[in-house]
Amino acid sequence: MASEDFNPSDWKRLIRFLGDDPERPGLLETPDRVAKAWAAWTSGYGQNPAEILKVFEDGAEDYNELIVVRGIPVYSHCEHHLAPFFGMATVGYTPDGRIVGLSKLTRLVDCFSRRLQVQERLTMQIANALMTHLAPRSVGVVIRCRHMCMESRGIRTPGEETVTSALKGELHTNLGLRTEFLELARERA
Ligand SMILES: [Zn+2]
Repeated sequence: MASEDFNPSDWKRLIRFLGDDPERPGLLETPDRVAKAWAAWTSGYGQNPAEILKVFEDGAEDYNELIVVRGIPVYSHCEHHLAPFFGMATVGYTPDGRIVGLSKLTRLVDCFSRRLQVQERLTMQIANALMTHLAPRSVGVVIRCRHMCMESRGIRTPGEETVTSALKGELHTNLGLRTEFLELARERA
């Protein structure tokens, strides 16, 4: 929200355009609040996946099994309607000598979800960033989200989830590993 051709008072024009009076007491503080909220919702633009993943942890040189974090919250906005979509991500990988702190996976999801997105690209970007910056043997990402732009306009059943997945490396090619990961992702987001 750093552009010189947009400032919080422009939200007043939007409120007026929507049919309300931006000068009524309940809405007076709204433009500033909305500007702050959007800064948080799009804070991913200021984050760099290479920075998030640059510090590795020791102690797992011989660990070759799946590492999976489930229930990572996803809060994003669709780039077609600026409407929220939100849900949970499961992120997993099989390391090739390097592991990262589990909280880094949550930060990585935040980095890409706190932007204007489509769920398919969000899923791929998380998987690709892990492949590029951690260089594991494989990566798997499953995301389940509810999209307000669809639900609130009656195109979809309320509560319906969109599920996307990206599988890289041996998680893509090894059927046993793939099944194990997708089972874990199915139970909880
Ligand atoms: Zn949308």
